[in-house]
Amino acid sequence: MTRVLVVGAAGRMGDALVRALAVSSELRLTAALEHATHSRLGSEVAPGVKLGSDLRAACAQADVAIDFSSPSSTLALLDHAESLGLPLVIGTTGLKGDADERIARAAKRLAIVRAANFSLGVTVLLEFVAEAARRLEGYEIDLLEMHHDQKVDAPSGTALALARAAAEARGQDLQRDAVYSREGITGKRKPGQIGVQALRLGDSIGEHTVYFAGPGERVELAHRALSRDNFANGALTAARWVTGRTPGLYSMRDVVRRG
Ligand code: NAD
Repeated sequence: MTRVLVVGAAGRMGDALVRALAVSSELRLTAALEHATHSRLGSEVAPGVKLGSDLRAACAQADVAIDFSSPSSTLALLDHAESLGLPLVIGTTGLKGDADERIARAAKRLAIVRAANFSLGVTVLLEFVAEAARRLEGYEIDLLEMHHDQKVDAPSGTALALARAAAEARGQDLQRDAVYSREGITGKRKPGQIGVQALRLGDSIGEHTVYFAGPGERVELAHRALSRDNFANGALTAARWVTGRTPGLYSMRDVVRRG
């Protein structure tokens, strides 16, 4: 059985991961990490596994770590994982600054699967969006995403990944062409713009729609997450896949494609 550390174990995704691990025949939860101030610290999340905050000790008890926590926690995990050669599955979004380079550097020594969305549906949707962006030449692209009111980053990592897929398929630079808000006298839409808008309300687990508008028609490619179980199951698939893999930075597409 592969031993698994879950980082952010008392969170919404942590809870889904702990439940999915409880019924896994190949993976076993051996360490559960939480923020040092969490009210449930010390409580049992699975038989014999208590919520702890000692990162070094937790990493030493695992063959692979699954991280759905916060950007600063992900970076701290990277440091420890790198020194131990511990493979990682990173689901945390909202990482900024040089975090991408930091992850790429760690991936020279570690196998890492990183995805803004671990569902099979979004993994496939990314390919559909790239294909539509290529084939619907000249069609305007905008994207709308909706998440629960507790989400702390916007737009979602999934929205950015979808927008990037569309931009790259057209040879565009998302950093230059993305528009994250429109207000006031904005002027007409500029060619090549990719609008990305975020709604934050209620308890939506995550909904994304990519719009392609051309003369007299509009194509909409949409994904709606109906539970967190699909993310958790995808992350477990990635954890099995990445354990024992040669160092590198992998995506869910790699996991799904290479089997
Ligand atoms: P959440 O706030 O419910 O859970 C995050 C947990 O991490 C909290 O319990 C928090 O206390 C804990 N945490 C914070 N700092 C920590 C630290 N230093 N050490 C250990 N634990 C720490 O959030 P959530 O909805 O579970 O989402 C977590 C992250 O995963 C977010 O970045 C979210 O955007 C992302 N997410 C990704 C996917 C995906 O498929 N990639 C899906 C859902 C959510």
